[in-house]
Amino acid sequence: MSDCLFCKIIAGDIPADIVYQDDKILVFKDIAPKADVHLLMIPKIHIESLAQLNESHNDLIAYMMLKLPELAEDQGLSSGFRTIINTGKDGGQEVFHLHTHLLGGNNLPGF
Ligand code: AMP
Ligand code: ZN
Repeated sequence: MSDCLFCKIIAGDIPADIVYQDDKILVFKDIAPKADVHLLMIPKIHIESLAQLNESHNDLIAYMMLKLPELAEDQGLSSGFRTIINTGKDGGQEVFHLHTHLLGGNNLPGF
């Protein structure tokens, strides 16, 4: 965990462009945006990926899911948005601290 990039952002040891935070989650701009709006939502506790979730995380995951449309609305994405969670090496995950990509705007690439 001590070498986890996103834990360092949570700790304030690495700067990030933070758009929202509370006691459970942190939301910041992706450093290499793939769309007009490209945010990352992370839990403040270190969870490696979706594959490490268990029932003790039920409330946290529900909380994160419900926050996503709220954040999209705040970003002006009233006509829709995309969420992506890459899981594991073969899923394209590069940072091994669970995160949801929130993408939207005019430059949203095809999928
Ligand atoms: P993933 O491939 O799903 O693990 O996505 C990791 C994401 O983290 C990529 O979209 C990167 O551009 C982004 N990223 C890496 N380093 C930083 C950073 N220091 N601040 C913000 N975003 C970052
Ligand atoms: Zn971490």
